[in-house]
This record gives sequence, C-alpha cells and structure tokens, in this order.
Amino acid sequence: MRAKRKDPPAALLVRAVNWLGDAVLTTPALGAVRAAFPRARISLAAWPLVAELFRGHPDVDEVLVYDKAGVHAGAAGMLRMAGELRRGRFDSALLFQNAFDAALLAFLAGVPERTGYATDGRRFLLTRAIPVTEETRRLHHAEYYLRLVAGMGIPLPASPRMRLRVTREETDAMEERLSSLGIPKGKRILGINPGATYGSAKRWYPERFAAVADALSGEWGTSVVLMGSAPERPLSEEIEAAMRGKPVNLAGRTTVREMMSLLSRCSFLVTNDSGPMHIAAALGVPLAAVFGPTDWRTTCPWTDKARIVRAGVDCSPCMLRECDRGHECMLGVTAEMVVAAARELFPESPREAG
Ligand code: SF4
Repeated sequence: MRAKRKDPPAALLVRAVNWLGDAVLTTPALGAVRAAFPRARISLAAWPLVAELFRGHPDVDEVLVYDKAGVHAGAAGMLRMAGELRRGRFDSALLFQNAFDAALLAFLAGVPERTGYATDGRRFLLTRAIPVTEETRRLHHAEYYLRLVAGMGIPLPASPRMRLRVTREETDAMEERLSSLGIPKGKRILGINPGATYGSAKRWYPERFAAVADALSGEWGTSVVLMGSAPERPLSEEIEAAMRGKPVNLAGRTTVREMMSLLSRCSFLVTNDSGPMHIAAALGVPLAAVFGPTDWRTTCPWTDKARIVRAGVDCSPCMLRECDRGHECMLGVTAEMVVAAARELFPESPREAG
C-alpha cells in the first residue's frame, strides 16, 4: 500500500453505481468533484452499460469497464480488475456504489484513501466512512450522492445540475436514421418509453401508452417514436398494434449511446420510472412519468420540466418488483391523467428539441 496522499488528489478513482438511472443521478455530485479537483485525472469504473453512458462525459477523463458478467467474473475476475486499477496509481477512491464489493475492489487495488457510505458491512474497508442516517435515507438520490461528496470535504455548487453529453456526430447519425424512417429534420418527436428493467410492477399498460401517444401526437402534430431495450420489444409492439397512428418503433434497436441521442431529439417523453426517464431529464427533455411501486420522493426526475402521475394508493411505495396485490397503483393511472399532466407542462405544444 502506498503512503497517504496530500490534497488534492492527482488521480481519483470513482466507482459508478450499476443502474443507468441512478448513474444519471450521480452526475451533479460528479460535477462538484470535477470543480473541486480541476487538474486531477478522474477515472470512472463502471459496468458496461453505465460505462457507455459516461463515454466522453466532460467530468470524467477516462472510463474503465468493469465487466462482472465477462472478463471480470468471479473472484479471479475481481483480482484481475484490481490489478488493472492498481496500474492507475490512484490516490483516492470515491465509491458512489454502496456495495461491499466496491470497497473491497478499491482496497485490493491499493488505493490509499477510500470514501463511501458506511453500508453493507464495509466500514472497515473505508478510510472515510460517511454514516447513513434516517435523514440521509429520505434524501432524493441526487442529493444523497451530493451529501457523500460533501462528506469528502468537497464544496457543493449553489445550483448543482445533472449533466450528460451527446456528441454532434451521434446527433447527426440519429437525425439521418430518423430521416430514413420518415421523420425529417425539424419534425418534433413524442417519445414513448414503456419499459422498466427493475420489474413488471413498475410498468404501466401498453394500451394506455397507445392512447396517450395518439392523443398527444394528434394534438401537438408530433411524430411518435417507441423506445426501450430488446426484452421490452414485445411491449412496444403491443403499443404499435393498439395505436391509431403509425409510430416508429426503435425498441431493441438502439445502443445506450443511440438511445441518448434519440432522447435528446425528443420534444417530450412519456415514460415509466426508468433509466431513460432520468437520461431524458438530464438532457433537458420535458416528460410525464408514471410512478407506482417506487418512491417518487427519492427517485423522481430531478428537474422542474417533469410531471409525476400517480394513483396514490396506500401500499405505495412498496418497492416490489412484481405486485402481490391488484396492481392498483398502475390501474388507477388513466390515459387521461397522463395527457392532463402533459398539457399542464405544455398548454400549447412542446418546442422543437435542442
Ligand atoms: S403492492 Fe401496491 S404499490 Fe406495490 S405494486 Fe402492488 S399495487 Fe403497486
């Protein structure tokens, strides 16, 4: 183990969280870190999908892929990753991820200073363990991560904000693709994101998404693009079949980077509580989000350009992946409620994206 450093660090390792949506919510804290250490080499270690999210991000100098399902699988894989990190000669590690694994990896990589929340029995592996209190638990996730970096002694900006970057090349490539699918440059897009990786309890219903898509696109004169991951393709096909209008269906046909450029092209998004919801919010896209089993107080989009639509049943938030009751939290959200939320944000019509 190398000797402890003096502030500020020359090389800082940041361990990203594993879910796309949560990773977006770490970006205000990441911005504070960059501002505090403008000359440090900031390296972000992340699972492959999250690594894609941060490719070219202005607050990160390099992205290191931690592929636990591939080359870094199992104990041997973790040692291999630790060896790769050791070569980076990091002075300090900031662990956004709460798991024991994150602290163990930083320890095995020989990083002398390791900061993270005191969670998952890992306090002894951290050199600066930030306690999790009842108050911390109630914070919105973006504020939870800001609190962590504040615990590292980093000053917080007066107005922290989420930040993601889509390049001009990516935007142009998506524009060309949409053009080839019948959506010309300048035509406004209503995005529909019906999936949610966490589980079926978070998913609103395809026929209701279809009704909202028809109503808003008719009212606003927008094209409709359906999006989502490959396993969510059947959901989008149900929506396509239930719609009166003809959408472009890109579900299962985009990488993370392409999904980001597609979202940045949207004038409005209708979505479940999901990773794309947070990506859209970070890209400044206005949206209406249906919430059911998850906690809207801690994971709502961190923007004033969003409306949350909820049924307000007693059992919510339950945080279940699959509902063991009647799914009233979703059944109670009608298409009319979502259309009304969108109209509240845009009494006229949303502007062109960008
Ligand atoms: S238990 Fe309640 S909040 Fe949870 S998914 Fe079912 S209806 Fe929704």
